[in-house]
Amino acid sequence: MTTATLPAKVPVSHAALVARMKAIVGADNVLTSSAEMSVYECDGFTIEKHRPDVVVFPTTTEHIVGIVKACEEFGVPFLARGAGTSLAGGCVLVGGGVMIALARMKRILEINVRDRYAVVEPGVVNVWLTNALKPHGYHYAPDPSSQGACTIGGNVATNSGGPHTLKYGVTVNHILGVELVLPDGRVVTCGGPCEDGPGYDLTGAIVGSEGTFGVVSKVWVRLTRNPEAYRTLLGVFASVDDATNTISDIIGAGIVPAALEMLDQTFIGSVEAAYKLGFPLDAGALLIMEVDGLTAGLQGEADRVEAIARKNGAREVRKANTEAERLALWKARKGAFGTVGRLGFPSYCTQDGVVPRTKLPEIMRHIQGVSRKYGITIANVFHAGDGNIHPVLLFDERDPEQVRRVLDASHEILDECIRLGGSVTGEHGIGVEKLDFMPKLFTPADLLFMLRLRNAFNPDNRCSPGKLFPTAGGCAEPGTTPQTRPGRRAAV
Ligand SMILES: Cc1cc2nc3c(=O)[nH]c(=O)nc-3n(C[C@H](O)[C@H](O)[C@H](O)COP(=O)(O)OP(=O)(O)OC[C@H]3O[C@@H](n4cnc5c(N)ncnc54)[C@H](O)[C@@H]3O)c2cc1C
Repeated sequence: MTTATLPAKVPVSHAALVARMKAIVGADNVLTSSAEMSVYECDGFTIEKHRPDVVVFPTTTEHIVGIVKACEEFGVPFLARGAGTSLAGGCVLVGGGVMIALARMKRILEINVRDRYAVVEPGVVNVWLTNALKPHGYHYAPDPSSQGACTIGGNVATNSGGPHTLKYGVTVNHILGVELVLPDGRVVTCGGPCEDGPGYDLTGAIVGSEGTFGVVSKVWVRLTRNPEAYRTLLGVFASVDDATNTISDIIGAGIVPAALEMLDQTFIGSVEAAYKLGFPLDAGALLIMEVDGLTAGLQGEADRVEAIARKNGAREVRKANTEAERLALWKARKGAFGTVGRLGFPSYCTQDGVVPRTKLPEIMRHIQGVSRKYGITIANVFHAGDGNIHPVLLFDERDPEQVRRVLDASHEILDECIRLGGSVTGEHGIGVEKLDFMPKLFTPADLLFMLRLRNAFNPDNRCSPGKLFPTAGGCAEPGTTPQTRPGRRAAV
C-alpha cells in the first residue's frame, strides 16, 4: 500500500470541469454522483480506494484527445480504465482527477484473417474477439481468467497472461501496434499491421506500462490459428508438492503443454461446490494439463504427460472425453476466483508472484507457513506452468487489524518470491499496491532509467499518477521531483 502524502491541492471548479467534459463527450457519457463514483474508487485490490472527481466515457479517439487536453488546461490528473478487473490497484485514481473509462469504445474495427491481424478499440472485451474469430478458425491467444470481463486495452496496459500463455506467450507477443493518445493530446501510432518495424520497439515498451504513457485508443492484435486438437487431463494429487514436481518434470522432459493450472484443496472445495464437476474433495491438489497441436502425435504427448503425473504420485488422471467436458473444466478454472464467496469471507486479496518453476514446492510451503503465522486462510489457484503463483488471502476488510495482517502476509510471500529468484508480479503489475517492492527489484539507476522513459511520454506525470514508481527515495532525476505525485488542482 502506498504511503506518500499528496501535494497541496489548489482548488479548481468541479462544475467547470464537469461542464467541459460534458461539452466534449455529451452529458450521457459523464458520471458525477457520489454513488456512481463509488463504483470507480478501486479495482480488484479493494484495500486502497480513491474516488475520481468525474468519470468520462469517450467513444472516439477525438474525445480522448479533448479530455486529456482539458485535463492539461485544468491541471488535473487522469487515468484510463478498462473493466476495472486489475488486482494491484492499477485502476485507482490516486488523489482524484478524471477517470477515462474506455468501456464504450468497444468496436472490433477489422478482422483480416489473410494477414492474420485484427484492429480493435480498447474497450473490446477479450473474449468477444475470440468469439468473433470462431467462424474463421482463429482466436486471440492471451486468455486471462478474467477474459469474459477484462478489456484488450487493460490487457495491453498490464501485459496480461493467462492459462494458455505458457505455450503461446503473454499479451506483448500478440500486439502488433497501438494508437496512443499522449498526455498533451498528441496521437501517435506505434507499429501496425506488419510484423517487426524498424527502430526501437516502442509498442513493446507501451505494453505493460500500466497506463503511465497515455491512453491506448486502438490496438492491432495478432491472430492465432486454432489448434487442430486438444488433450486435456486432470491430475489428482495427494499433495501440492507432487503436483508441482509433475510440472517441473513435464517441462524438463521437453514437453511444452498449452496449459498447466493448479488448484489447491481450498479451491477444489469452492469450485466443486459451484460447478459440480465431481472433483475429489479429499485431494491435496488438482492439476489441469492440456496439450494441443496437430492430431498426429498428440495422443503420444498426452500419454507422456500422464505417465509423468503418475510417476509423481497422481492417484488418478482423468480425461476430458468431449469438447463439452473440456470447456466445462476451463469454465470452472476460469471461474475459480468467483467461487471464493463460498468460503465464507467477505473480502479477498489476490496476490501475484512468480518463481522459477522448480521453486514452486518451496514457495507453496512458505505460503502455508505464512498462513499459519498470520492466522490468515490462503487459497491457491495459479498458472503453475509459468511459476506464476496466485495466493488468495481471505479476510474481512472492515477490520483494520485483519487488513494489516493480510498486507504483512502478502509482503512476506512476495519477499520470498524475490529471495527464490523470482519477482513480485507475474502478470497483474505493480499498480499502487507494490510500489515499495520496486527498489527491492531494481537499482536506483534502473529506476531512474525507467522514469526517464516514462517522462518521455508523460513528462509531468498527470497520466496515471502514483503508479509503478516508489514515492520516496532514490528515484529522482536531478533537478526534477518525479518521485512525488503530480502537482494538481483539486476539483472541489
Ligand atoms: C477473476 C479475475 C481473474 C484474473 N485473471 C487474470 C489472468 O489470468 N491473467 C492476468 O494477467 N490477469 C488476470 N486478472 C487481472 C486483470 O483482469 C488483468 O490485469 C486485465 O488485463 C485488466 O483489464 P481491465 O480491462 O479490467 O483493465 P483495468 O483494470 O480497467 O485497468 C488495468 C490497468 O490498465 C490501465 N488501462 C486500462 N485501459 C487502458 C487504456 N485503454 N490505455 C491505457 N491504459 C489502460 C489502467 O489505467 C490500469 O493501470 C484477473 C482478474 C480477475 C478479477
